[in-house]
Amino acid sequence: MDEFALIRRYFSAIGSGDGVHLGVGDDAAVLEVPSGDLLVTATDTLVAGAHFPLDEPAAAVGYRAVAVNVSDFAAMATRPRWFTLALTLPNADSEWLQSFSAGLRDAALVNDITLVGGDTTRGPLTISLTVLGCAPTESIRRRDGAKAGDTLLVSGPLGDAAGGLRLLETGTVDTGAERHLVERFRRPPSRWRLAIRAAPQLHAAIDVSDGLLADLAHLATASGVAAEVDAGRLPCSDELLERFGEGDALRFALTGGDDYELLVAAPASAVAELETLGFIAIGRFALGEGVHVSGGPDLGLADSGYRHFRDAAS
Ligand code: ADP
Ligand code: MG
Repeated sequence: MDEFALIRRYFSAIGSGDGVHLGVGDDAAVLEVPSGDLLVTATDTLVAGAHFPLDEPAAAVGYRAVAVNVSDFAAMATRPRWFTLALTLPNADSEWLQSFSAGLRDAALVNDITLVGGDTTRGPLTISLTVLGCAPTESIRRRDGAKAGDTLLVSGPLGDAAGGLRLLETGTVDTGAERHLVERFRRPPSRWRLAIRAAPQLHAAIDVSDGLLADLAHLATASGVAAEVDAGRLPCSDELLERFGEGDALRFALTGGDDYELLVAAPASAVAELETLGFIAIGRFALGEGVHVSGGPDLGLADSGYRHFRDAAS
């Protein structure tokens, strides 16, 4: 099958087509931006072996590629509308493509976004998505708006995805708890609707992709404030605690990545309402700089100005 037939077969009809004047098939996509809105865009690339294990099922790779990209829109409190897919494949394996496009379609439906174009090339398996959306200026949330005195909240449990990835890397996924953790790695949550609902109450937002301490450091630095995490209030799932115990669960929650929950700063007056939406208060912002962790066992992490080092792959 040549490249064009392959594209038509697997990637021509994903999503509702809302706002699409021209999608997959022509030289470029043509999209309708509501007048007065700003155009918002974000790109993330997943390299096999670096961002997911080489032997991940294709459907999981497709789902996750969409979900991690859409997460950046949740972090902006913006509705994602369309995406393009730059796909680099070692070969045109139709079984793999069928399953990959099913995962992609699944995540596109969950997030209500449409595939409008892309590019297909040969090479080591790499998936790069660009997501597009629109929003009025005043509804967009950024990472640089946290103020001293704000409360720090998170939209769900932390550490599960890192636990799941550890299980995939060490090769045992048998119990219900283990399957739950792997699922949390493979199917990052969709938080953009929640973010839009919460936006009027938020001073700043970011998504947890690299780990709580790392992403919180980005938010605190951008905002010019210090952040303090109350380790005793970190939400860890029963499954994570059951499988890894308290110490490792806390370590994963603080430093593990891939959870794609929202991390937000809000004034104290908004906390009760955000809690009814499902957010959990885990700390506060103060004058100063750096990220500090109070409470919990000593995990040997620097307690201030925490810096997250990653290898060249991230
Ligand atoms: P061109 O040489 O004109 O760029 P392509 O073969 O790259 O032609 O693309 C043909 C059409 O298929 C375009 O509309 C492009 O957006 C779409 N397309 C190519 N690869 C993908 C892909 N992986 N996913 C979605 N659409 C794709
Ligand atoms: Mg092209």
